[in-house]
Amino acid sequence: MMDTPYWEKELETISRRDLENLQFSLFKRKMQYVYDNSPMYRQKYDQAGIKPDDIGSLTDICRLPFTEKEDLRESQERQPPWGDCICIPPEEGVRVFQTTGTTGTPVKIILNNNDWEKHFYRQFMHFMKGYGITPHDRLYVPFNYGLHIAWWGLQAAFERAGVMIIPGGGISSENRIKALLEYKATVICGTPTYMLYLEETARKMGVSLEDTPIRILIVAGEPGANVPATKKTLEKMWGAFCYDDIGSSEISNFGFECIRQKGTHIIESMFYVESIDPETLQPVADGEVGELVITNLITESMPLIRFRIKDLVRFDRSTCDCGRTFLRLDGGILGRSDDMFQFAGINIFPSALENFIREMVEFSDEYQIHVPKQGSGNPLLIKVEPKRKEVAPEELQVTRQRLIDKVKLNMTITPMVEIVKMGELPRFEAKAKRVYRS
Ligand SMILES: [Zn+2]
Repeated sequence: MMDTPYWEKELETISRRDLENLQFSLFKRKMQYVYDNSPMYRQKYDQAGIKPDDIGSLTDICRLPFTEKEDLRESQERQPPWGDCICIPPEEGVRVFQTTGTTGTPVKIILNNNDWEKHFYRQFMHFMKGYGITPHDRLYVPFNYGLHIAWWGLQAAFERAGVMIIPGGGISSENRIKALLEYKATVICGTPTYMLYLEETARKMGVSLEDTPIRILIVAGEPGANVPATKKTLEKMWGAFCYDDIGSSEISNFGFECIRQKGTHIIESMFYVESIDPETLQPVADGEVGELVITNLITESMPLIRFRIKDLVRFDRSTCDCGRTFLRLDGGILGRSDDMFQFAGINIFPSALENFIREMVEFSDEYQIHVPKQGSGNPLLIKVEPKRKEVAPEELQVTRQRLIDKVKLNMTITPMVEIVKMGELPRFEAKAKRVYRS
């Protein structure tokens, strides 16, 4: 097996103790910085009666109030367009982004030259080395970049590191398949949903993606890279390794999966992470599922302290087979705390259901989950469709029962599974909507 390529080996293999010392000094410095430069943070900490000097150790951090997405929205409404959450004069900005707005008014992001040229570059180099990408690779980006941070960062940093970038925005999926063949792309990025869709498109065109030079898929924006069945499907379809990339526009990209594929690493030299119980807001132990809270230790323009990103994760602090000591998210992002739903008294993550559905090869990769009102007595409904015309109806019924049994065994609930016509469920090019609540 190839040696692990590192970006900053000394930091990536640092002992936990030294890392915690480093994180503590960076955290203190950043807290003082936001207190001095962002009226929103100064007010937040004054209201809570806490000064930066009151933080004497990493454990004290849990006394600080969280930063919610809503705080950023309110700040920007108070003082459009950037709000009083930023720490730089807007004239210093060289890059702007905004969130997708799928959960409300988009939040605007501004970055100064230091953040964009220095800090983001450093972040993305961790990704590039982590995935084992070299200057010989060619990255195909099958998207319009727009105002979303997602592919701008990869594009700018990888290009600077010598990787050829092939932009594929503004054209049809068919033309994207043609382009990635023509340019002999070796790396492609996208949401897991779109990577599935693109493969379906290629198959209809009579193209087998397994036979292309693509060797790496970088997937972001949804769980999936780490939903075992989805990952396996993607790797098989594309004949490539599939690696997770996690981040958000507000806090930027902070996690990558290494070539050993043993969970998603957090760049802990640049970010401080905590895991909390979304109900009690108290810390949860390593190995337990909790909601990710993340602090930006390095950036200058709009660093966020204790940001509730609403992703559910499970921490693993053991050293990875790659040699990195950076904490890993076991199974990547397990789901969104907003997406998690309760049924028959248990918490259900849609990604866990997705894993069972995608293990059933007779069904296509599209599905819908319909969650009934609590206490209505109605069953949980899963809609699936056949993968191919040739699958016999009897075979579909057997698979349907297998899916029901699997969910029952693992989750102690009995879902209703409806098989709809092939192609009836909607396809998505970006983030998919598959959970519907009544
Ligand atoms: Zn690793």
